[in-house]
Amino acid sequence: MAEVGKWERDALCAARVREGKADTEWWFPFTKGSNKPETKRAIKVCQECPVWRECRDFAAKWMLIGVWGGVVRVPTGRKPLLKANN
Ligand code: SF4
Repeated sequence: MAEVGKWERDALCAARVREGKADTEWWFPFTKGSNKPETKRAIKVCQECPVWRECRDFAAKWMLIGVWGGVVRVPTGRKPLLKANN
């Protein structure tokens, strides 16, 4: 399982969800279909997020799907990377 970096503490999405101003599902459009208005809301939050670069790079490294760093990442058919000790 991928380790989340220290940047996650500054994640604006998590803050918005805790405040009740966003829903986690906005960042995972594939669980309810893609191209939803909620996805656009997620991207808008990401655009204001102070750690969007770290988030984007983390998702790219681990081939995660969903909205990360303002980028909608779709399944590629490749297996996600795993930590060497898993
Ligand atoms: S860039 Fe978006 S998904 Fe990543 S931590 Fe920030 S708000 Fe969350």
